[in-house]
Amino acid sequence: MGAYRGRFAPTPSGPLHFGSLVAALASFLDARQAGGHWALRIEDIDPPRCPPENTDIIKQQLTAFGLGWDGPVLYQHHRYAAYQQALDHLVNTNLAYPCSCSRRQWKAYDIYPGWCRHAICEPDKPVAWRLRSDRGLRPVTWEDRRFGTCRFDPAKLGDTVLKRKDGLWAYQLAVVIDDADQGINQIVRGADLLDNTPWQRQLQHALGLPMPYYLHLPLILGEDGQKLSKQNLAPALPLNEHQARPLLFQALAALKQYPPDELIHAPVDEQLAWGIAHWSPERLRCNAPTSA
Ligand code: GLU
Repeated sequence: MGAYRGRFAPTPSGPLHFGSLVAALASFLDARQAGGHWALRIEDIDPPRCPPENTDIIKQQLTAFGLGWDGPVLYQHHRYAAYQQALDHLVNTNLAYPCSCSRRQWKAYDIYPGWCRHAICEPDKPVAWRLRSDRGLRPVTWEDRRFGTCRFDPAKLGDTVLKRKDGLWAYQLAVVIDDADQGINQIVRGADLLDNTPWQRQLQHALGLPMPYYLHLPLILGEDGQKLSKQNLAPALPLNEHQARPLLFQALAALKQYPPDELIHAPVDEQLAWGIAHWSPERLRCNAPTSA
């Protein structure tokens, strides 16, 4: 592998919360300990849900926590031509197809049953574009740095949407194209995306792109036992360094890094220097789920 290149890739549908801090911090520490590059990518492929002021807040939040990124920020709303080129390639190689079906029509099934695979069911209707998960790389396996060997059959996960009926791009395709174009070779992100990784690896394989390494982090749960998220109104991270200090300490603890008590009120740069020197992702290891 070449020099380490990692990234933090928030969706700016709201400000960052404690769960996003844990993902940002882990990928930052992992990159900095390796002397690597740490990019910021704004995943604003759904512009109505992602007003630009959220991106400004996210940058201020990262700055308050001392999480400085390298190089220019990449915005997915500038990247539609690259996504279209990739979709054209998948269509030409029979790995993507247009689909007119609505969720309502296949609600009796767990995954989309592939009715449009051979011909569009209702050719006069708007179409989404789906991946032929049954034709790509199967099974998909990788060595996750936290879960060990992961093995999935993407066909059991279904033909994921690559471009929506309203013309908006889907995360699965955009993330793969951008990681490759940014030369990202280490992905550190939440375990909520573990079962998206099989489609992403299928896409990398189909498009001849390099396969990055993955570390899927423990999810941070709220008091109700649910994953912290914008939907369940997780509080936004502060914008000033003083208020950031105890939260950064808690994030180091949530990553099982056991920071010494005296760091709790230390300036964020001091906490990060300790975090980089002591970063031990092995402490997060656990067993892998499988679907194949
Ligand atoms: N944009 C995604 C999110 O905010 C993260 C994507 C990724 O890390 O692959 O959940």
